[in-house]
Order: sequence, then C-alpha cells, then structure tokens
Amino acid sequence: MAKGRLFVISGASGVGKSTVLARVMQAHKNIRFSVSATTRQPREGEQEGISYYFVTKEQFSQMIVRDEFLEYDNHMENYYGTPKKQLEEKLEQGDVLLDIDPNGAFQVREKRPDAVLIFIAPPSLEELERRLRSRGDTDEAQIRVRLDRVKWEVEQSKQYNYVVINDQVEACADKILEIILK
Ligand code: 5GP
Repeated sequence: MAKGRLFVISGASGVGKSTVLARVMQAHKNIRFSVSATTRQPREGEQEGISYYFVTKEQFSQMIVRDEFLEYDNHMENYYGTPKKQLEEKLEQGDVLLDIDPNGAFQVREKRPDAVLIFIAPPSLEELERRLRSRGDTDEAQIRVRLDRVKWEVEQSKQYNYVVINDQVEACADKILEIILK
C-alpha cells in the first residue's frame, strides 16, 4: 500500500495555475510533482525532467505500446501522459500532485478512485476573455478555440471533488493547501 495520496489538479489555460501550483509546492515540502511526458516543444525556461519529459511522437507511441502511462491524452495537437512507474515511486515517498487536463483526471479516477480531483476555475469567463484579448498576441480564431476549450473544462469541473476559484493567487493556493492537508 502506497504511503502517499494522489491529488489531481486541473485548470483552464490562462487561470494562472502554474503560479498557484508553484506556491503550493513551496509551502508543502512533502508533496512531489509528477512530471509528465509530452510531445510539445519546450517553452522558454522549461527544463527537461522538471517541467516535462520532452519526447518525440515516436517515443511517446512506444511508451503507449509498452503500457507505461497511467493515463494520456491529446491536447492541442500534442500528446501528454503520466508515466506510471515514476508516479508509483513518488507515492511510496509521500503525497503526489498531478497537473493534468480533465480527460486525464477522469482516467486517473477510474484507475485510482481514491484520487482527489481539484479544479482551479477562472473568476469568470468574461474576465478570462478580457485577459486573453488584452495580451494582444493571439488572433481571434485562436481566442475562440481557447475560450471554447475553457468553457468545456469549466463544465467538466462539476465532476471534481473541489472547485477553487483563482481570483487571487495566495488565497487560491491557501485553499488548495487546506484541502491537501486535511
Ligand atoms: P501546457 O502545454 O500548457 O504545459 O499544458 C497543456 C495542458 O496539458 C494543461 O491543461 C495541462 O494540465 C495538461 N497536461 C499536462 N500534463 C499532462 C498529462 O500528463 N496528462 C494529461 N492528460 N494532461 C496533461
């Protein structure tokens, strides 16, 4: 029986999830982050083995064939998956946090019904739309795709154990810590 508990966190893109998670990880020293494998290109500042394991589509397919994922999903033309072995090793050491999308979260729940699902929601869709537009670097078609995706994700949040609204980073991180430390 593993020592730790499994916390799955999802959040619509643009809600500041990574800032919230960084704060949670800093405050709770005995929680480990499950590093996913992805076929997408690294963004500036992302580190191999810390942010993600960056792999090719061929490598990802081989990992599927070898049944190495607890779950995986296709998101915006890239693949993302949770490596099973690494997760189990981390669970032996303590609590583990997964940052994955709703499709992945529901696959995890099927395999591990004791997983706690937490959704980070934007204060409002209008506010999120305003934020996306104010950046000025995304064209209208992309904004629509992202907003549709966010609407779908917020709809899925009804099936989560907890929904925490990110109107303020510190308060949101504190609420998540409260859930984890319960
Ligand atoms: P990004 O490319 O912005 O890092 O992540 C895009 C989306 O993929 C986010 O919603 C993130 O939670 C999700 N994601 C990251 N890793 C995994 C994973 O291992 N499995 C699944 N299903 N989704 C993931």
